[in-house]
Amino acid sequence: MQQELVNALKMRLRGPVLVPGDAGYEESRTVWNAMIDRKPAAIARCLGTADVIASVKFAREHDLLLCIKGGGHNIAGLATADGALMLDMSLMRGVWVDPEKRIARAQAGCLLGDVDRETQVHGLASILGFVSATGIAGLTLGGGFGYLTRRWGWTSDNVAGMELVTAEGELVRASSDENPDLFWGLRGGGGNFGVVTGIDYKLYPVGPEVVGGLVAWPQSEAPKVLELYRTLAEQAPPELTLVTLMRPAPPAPWLPKEMHGKPIIAMLACYSGNPEEGEKLVAPIKQFGSPIGDVLVRRPYAQMQALLDGTQPKGRRYYWKSEYLPRIETALCERAMEHAAKIRSPHSAVILFQIGGALNQLPADHSPVGNRDARYVLNISGAWEQAGDDEANIRWARDAWSDMKAFSTGGTYINFLTEDEGPERTQDALGKGLGRLKEIKARWDPKNVFRTNRNIPPI
Ligand SMILES: Cc1cc2nc3c(=O)[nH]c(=O)nc-3n(C[C@H](O)[C@H](O)[C@H](O)COP(=O)(O)OP(=O)(O)OC[C@H]3O[C@@H](n4cnc5c(N)ncnc54)[C@H](O)[C@@H]3O)c2cc1C
Repeated sequence: MQQELVNALKMRLRGPVLVPGDAGYEESRTVWNAMIDRKPAAIARCLGTADVIASVKFAREHDLLLCIKGGGHNIAGLATADGALMLDMSLMRGVWVDPEKRIARAQAGCLLGDVDRETQVHGLASILGFVSATGIAGLTLGGGFGYLTRRWGWTSDNVAGMELVTAEGELVRASSDENPDLFWGLRGGGGNFGVVTGIDYKLYPVGPEVVGGLVAWPQSEAPKVLELYRTLAEQAPPELTLVTLMRPAPPAPWLPKEMHGKPIIAMLACYSGNPEEGEKLVAPIKQFGSPIGDVLVRRPYAQMQALLDGTQPKGRRYYWKSEYLPRIETALCERAMEHAAKIRSPHSAVILFQIGGALNQLPADHSPVGNRDARYVLNISGAWEQAGDDEANIRWARDAWSDMKAFSTGGTYINFLTEDEGPERTQDALGKGLGRLKEIKARWDPKNVFRTNRNIPPI
């Protein structure tokens, strides 16, 4: 970008503007997935809503491509684009909790951990995901699920309202009684309609303690552990969420050294209701066979929300394939074990997340995130260090996925789609809601200003 243009932008903003070579530019332009390596022409580090409005108007006036970075966790790197003006929201991380109304207003640059930290002061929580460094904006705009989903639905089902800067640079509010069409679209349609500056989350009493953590066994126990998983998950009350993963054992202190790097199966549980009841419900997991490690205990909810953080650092190379599942079938378990045995990296995993519960009880068209028939998420999660290993790891994930996708509901999670997954996968993720989203897009962003996302072209 020409220097005069950069200077003109700087004059309009309270936050800093960074260009290649500036201190902080590299940190700001890079995202969680090191497979993505794009260079925006300039980065506006917005310090408030006024900076967002000024940046959107500036981009329109000078015909600049816009991209928006929340937590930068999108695996497809949707937060960044070559030659674009990037709005880096990471300086906007305020959270205000109203414990009486049970609402938290969070600025759009917040990470999940920011919101949990403030809401837990009041013994409350919103419905967020499993890794605390994920951005709230991308997660919520695409749906969002975590340990509380089975009690209260997708994250986006639990949003009371959002504040948004439109393509015209106007500030609007979206809720069930203000711009309801926009509000519908924002709860699953991604960043297609504008730049979200604040999200109001509904809160529920959770914690301070939950019963949560992992129990691990050698991979040789996988057939029996998967059968246990299936049985327990089918009977689980909404307060209990169970996840199973197969992977090489990480060098974690709770796992014996001689097992590090060897294949294991682990069950991750979180019971968010009364801890005594939770202890009874997870006892069959703790007592099953001969675990090689067990950290399934009472712990603070906020700690539970960060338990997996160390396994997902920024800067590795990541490639995922994902499908929603209606149930866990024995044949699927057999295939999952087969593909776990072929993992090519110490960081990769085959994961089954349980999500069925409250989200299944809402009507299909409640919001565009849809997929109300989904009860589990299959995530074939490739993660490795070196570019030279890309091909082998990507091939592993693709092969496993093509073998297991027959078990899918036909739907997939929009927030887990990789760079190489095209519009047909957006269709799989959004289903029938896509038509209505196109109409909303045509009303709010007819020129497709916001297109560095899972793009919904205006009709
Ligand atoms: C380690 C890891 C763990 C995860 N765990 C979960 C989980 O437990 N549950 C779950 O549901 N998902 C999970 N996800 C997926 C996650 O929801 C998506 O990666 C999501 O896109 C992340 O949001 P972000 O703000 O960090 O993303 P970014 O990469 O910053 O942005 C993603 C998209 O959102 C748009 N966007 C960001 N901010 C705004 C804004 N303010 N206004 C408008 N558009 C905006 C961007 O333009 C981009 O298109 C996980 C991802 C990772 C990498």
